[in-house]
Amino acid sequence: MTEVRDVIIIGGGPAGYTAALYGARANMNPLVIEGFQWGGQLMITSDVENYPGYPDGILGPEMMQDFRRQSERFGVEYITDDVTRVEFSDQTHKVFIGDDEYQARTVIVATGATARQLGLDSEIELQGRGVSYCAVCDAAFFRDKAVIVVGGGDSALEEANFLAKFASKVTLVHRREEFRASPIMVDRARSNDKIEFVLDAVVTEVLGTEEGKVVGARVENVNTGEASEIETDGFFVAIGHDPNTALFTDILDMDDDGYLLTREGSTETNIDGVFASGDVQDHIYRQAVTAAASGCMAALDAERYLSALEHAAADEIAV
Ligand code: NAP
Repeated sequence: MTEVRDVIIIGGGPAGYTAALYGARANMNPLVIEGFQWGGQLMITSDVENYPGYPDGILGPEMMQDFRRQSERFGVEYITDDVTRVEFSDQTHKVFIGDDEYQARTVIVATGATARQLGLDSEIELQGRGVSYCAVCDAAFFRDKAVIVVGGGDSALEEANFLAKFASKVTLVHRREEFRASPIMVDRARSNDKIEFVLDAVVTEVLGTEEGKVVGARVENVNTGEASEIETDGFFVAIGHDPNTALFTDILDMDDDGYLLTREGSTETNIDGVFASGDVQDHIYRQAVTAAASGCMAALDAERYLSALEHAAADEIAV
């Protein structure tokens, strides 16, 4: 017989580890299936200076190790592998890694989202060393420096405006002349003296020094093929995020962009006993601290759900 656990947490980022910490301290004996590449988006971030409790800042991967270690203290069990399939029912939920089956009365989905990348080798090499996917996190490192933002959606325009508060110059590189972003965001950027537009252009290489520091980008005009170089200290990719929800297609309710839908003011999904927390259900805030907070909420919701089940079972016996 497969053991039926109180809770299985899918995903090992700030949301999953915080849910594990709260779940363990509520005696729910969590199993975390944290993914083969555990740690989430913070694993490609260098300094984190906006997480409360780290007054001197901390490296993203170190912070995730701290999160994991803190929940380990309370006996959380980890599997460093990817879930391949789920079967959610109204009672016992099943989670599979290949042929191995795990069962639980509650599941917390914390699989996060993935920032879209341009897919350049140079971009990947310089991640966390001048290449960033989060202006809110990293803008302050570029005070009085030049930065590039790539993208033409609301995120890119918003990040360009935000970065202009710190940087001496922001160059927005977009592959078309038209913007996907709302006109008000474009107007705001256009009226900012610090922001320059390079349109109809794609980045073909992020340029770095031998020590691994971003110094520029090579761009190519999509109409003429003409290549040029832009000097920069920072390179922000803002071409959107993809929620990691392929596992839950046709099982959990999602919005048009694939983010999981939760009941307002709660982490409950459309299936009883299945909760969602962190970036997998949040396309707005996307911060480590908000993901952690929502992981805490999911564990509390799961704990209350289990208590309600136990009370209902006890009432039935009493009748
Ligand atoms: P998005 O709307 O999907 O825009 C992505 C942008 O990146 C597009 O301009 C796209 O170009 C470009 N792009 C995609 N792949 C690319 C590639 N490989 N190379 C170069 N450029 C590439 O994503 P988002 O801006 O993150 O916005 C996501 C959602 O959040 C949207 O609904 C948005 O309105 C919302 N949002 C709202 C606010 C706000 O209201 N304050 C702020 C941020 C985000 P093309 O246009 O040519 O496809």
